[in-house]
Amino acid sequence: MFDIVVKGGTLPDGRVADIGIRDGRIAAVERLDDAVEAGEVIDATGDLVSPPFVDPHFHMDATLSYGLPRINASGTLLEGIALWGELKQVMTVDEVKERALAYCDWAASLGLLAIRSHVDTCDDRLLGVQALLDVREAVKGYIDLQLVAFPQDGLYCDPTAYENTVRALDMGVDVVGGIPHFERTMAYGVASVTALCEIAAERGLLVDLHCDETDDPMSRHIETLAYETQRLGLQGRVTGSHLTSMHSMDNYYVSKLLPLMAEAQVAAIPNPLINIMLQGRHDTFPKRRGLTRVKEMQALGITVGWGQDCVRDPWYSLGTGDMLDVAFMGLHVAQMSAPEEMARCFDMVTAESAKIMHLDGYGLEVGCTASLVVLDAGDKIEAVRLRPDRLCVIAKGKVISRQARNDARLSIPGRPESVRRRHQPMGSG
Ligand SMILES: [Zn+2]
Repeated sequence: MFDIVVKGGTLPDGRVADIGIRDGRIAAVERLDDAVEAGEVIDATGDLVSPPFVDPHFHMDATLSYGLPRINASGTLLEGIALWGELKQVMTVDEVKERALAYCDWAASLGLLAIRSHVDTCDDRLLGVQALLDVREAVKGYIDLQLVAFPQDGLYCDPTAYENTVRALDMGVDVVGGIPHFERTMAYGVASVTALCEIAAERGLLVDLHCDETDDPMSRHIETLAYETQRLGLQGRVTGSHLTSMHSMDNYYVSKLLPLMAEAQVAAIPNPLINIMLQGRHDTFPKRRGLTRVKEMQALGITVGWGQDCVRDPWYSLGTGDMLDVAFMGLHVAQMSAPEEMARCFDMVTAESAKIMHLDGYGLEVGCTASLVVLDAGDKIEAVRLRPDRLCVIAKGKVISRQARNDARLSIPGRPESVRRRHQPMGSG
């Protein structure tokens, strides 16, 4: 007897299997007898059944604040940070929680069930930290929310940032964050990387720094991050987010840098929607794209996950919470057009980002947490192409969202009555 059986879906690896769910766990992944007893049977025949989407880089304290108190006129990262500084002065715990919970509703409906959110610690009241700790508790039945203590204004620029970042960790924030390229000098940036990695090593925590989010090819804090990772024995627990300066770096230097990152098992999180929107703003033409070197890192075995970063906030006016939008943009900007590369873009918003977040029980194997999403697509590549409706979302053994299949109705003589835009390549059965 299962609580739920998801019948006939296609798994990300192409297998067709039924999934039996019992007591919040996946209890079977095989062809189950049609007469099997289940509280509910969900027909997923022909549809993709995936573990949930994972966003390894987000800012939930800022989300859905677009236009408060004004919009970002220049469209730059720096005006966004200044604008956020204005908003911080007027926001309240309840207002942050309301926005964050509204975003989590969007996420749940899209099958985005694991989110790593940075939370600004440059605020003596730590109001955003308090709000997001409450939200983490409120959504834990359906979303795994991992929080990063993020000194947005710089660990050493802001006089109380260091102590407030440590206080946030004491309050229960999960991961150590930072922003070395925003410190006043390169030397202070280097010092911040060292200090933050030491805090993580002492406390046994993961590290995820906003690192080199600039077009300046001399911004090389990722090198220090990889070095400190090795020195402190943090291999496999450290991530560099953005790494946009790498786009502009000297190729010879990068040929030394990437093996250093691989050796230290430092992961990377580019945020393609935001990187393509914010970087290169000081260029005339040719205008740089500002996305880091994704395929080159992957070729050396470096784990790379696509992050979303922003939805409707001081840095980005669009966004929906759909990680397939992120994968779609990343695929284009990184030119990941080979079939295995397109499929990998799906993995970068699911399994590879789950690995970066050290998520327990993630996946569709027997014994994993029973969280999954049924998509109106035949396989991973089609999911990235269509960014389709999420027909059903199951979180920790419970159905939390359903959406009806929404085919268009045609009124064209001699043509089919309905159209779904799914496509089987010629000759593939
Ligand atoms: Zn960010």
